[in-house]
Amino acid sequence: MDPSRSEPSGQSTAGPAAWRREFPALDAPVHGRRLAYLDSASTALKPRAVIDAVVRVFTHQAGNVHRGVHALSEAATEAYDAARDDIARFLGGRPDEVVLTSGTTGALNLVAHSWGRAHVGPGDAVIATALEHHSNLVPWQALCAERGATLRIAPIDDRGRIDLEALAGLLDDRVRLVAVSQLSNVVGTIAPVAEIAALAHAAGAIVVVDGAQAVAHLAVDVAALGCDFYAFSGHKLFAPPGTGVLWGRRALLEAMPAWQTGGEMVASVDYARARLREPPHRFEAGTPNIAGVIGLGAAIRYLATLDRAAIARHEARLHARLREALAGEDRVRVLGAPEAAVVAFTVAGAHPHDVATIVDREGVAIRSGHHCAEPLHHRLGADASARASLALYNDDADIDALIAALARVREVLR
Ligand code: PMP
Repeated sequence: MDPSRSEPSGQSTAGPAAWRREFPALDAPVHGRRLAYLDSASTALKPRAVIDAVVRVFTHQAGNVHRGVHALSEAATEAYDAARDDIARFLGGRPDEVVLTSGTTGALNLVAHSWGRAHVGPGDAVIATALEHHSNLVPWQALCAERGATLRIAPIDDRGRIDLEALAGLLDDRVRLVAVSQLSNVVGTIAPVAEIAALAHAAGAIVVVDGAQAVAHLAVDVAALGCDFYAFSGHKLFAPPGTGVLWGRRALLEAMPAWQTGGEMVASVDYARARLREPPHRFEAGTPNIAGVIGLGAAIRYLATLDRAAIARHEARLHARLREALAGEDRVRVLGAPEAAVVAFTVAGAHPHDVATIVDREGVAIRSGHHCAEPLHHRLGADASARASLALYNDDADIDALIAALARVREVLR
């Protein structure tokens, strides 16, 4: 058996305390305090199973993939190909629909540059929602500018929910594509993707889902979502950074031109021209992030050993506590009405960077800034915010630590 496919050891299925023990980054104190890591929406910590898989690549599977016939290359190729199968199973798709990319950003740019340039022309339109991360906004702005098309923004309400009626009103026969994130990285609202997909398809548009935040928290089934493309990043799913996935409907992928060209994506080449390989390989030019992809497969297999319904219940309970605790804090304003995983907030009289810096001294890691969603912050009447975000390894002590640290913020800034 391929050693990279061994499952994590220990009683990792047992519950929150056991899940926590699988993440060695939580063992090291920060500024002399127990670490309260509340920044998983930025990047998630890695479980032992992933760390071990990556170490194994560089010790036993150190060859290149799909190139050599020697033992190390074959070992790397076997583990790498197996990861694609794991990813397909995780998403409810087929391995030949899984394009391996550098991240969500790489995946969305692939759609914009390949599908977009082939299908969006002068006078056409693209819709993105007012919630989007820059990764699911700027590629569409650039595509529209290049192709003479128009970008339409689907509005949200003050809670951070997409206004479906308004979105439906923006859909007409000029719209080629609708871009939506399944779970907002700022307001933590969950988009009704299946409903949006039905509306978009009825108008003849395709739907691209940014799953960067959703994958670690919500059940993802691309068939049930009814989307045409689904993008996510490995590093938010407990895997190494520099890995990502674009799932696409097979028929769409088959009709798409290459974007980046080079080695590995060609079937045959002469000095004048190249014959391209079938998808997904057509979209995977050059040596990939071998250890990262194998680590992503390990992350998905690690998650498969856990009770994901129990994780969802644990996260939902913590999220409700976090939301209520922050909403009850003096001078704190929560942005929107978060439904899962993240809570973004401002503290009157304190810049979010100062808030994050002060709580860091107390061992609490949160994010500050506009979280790559500058237009959304302006829509919500804020320039920036602090953001606490959860993962399976968080517990009540983490939330208590944040609330105690916020009292410290008020003391320092008084
Ligand atoms: N979309 C959303 C909703 C995100 O939260 C992020 C990461 N913050 C991205 C896209 C971009 O992901 P990456 O930087 O891994 O490509």
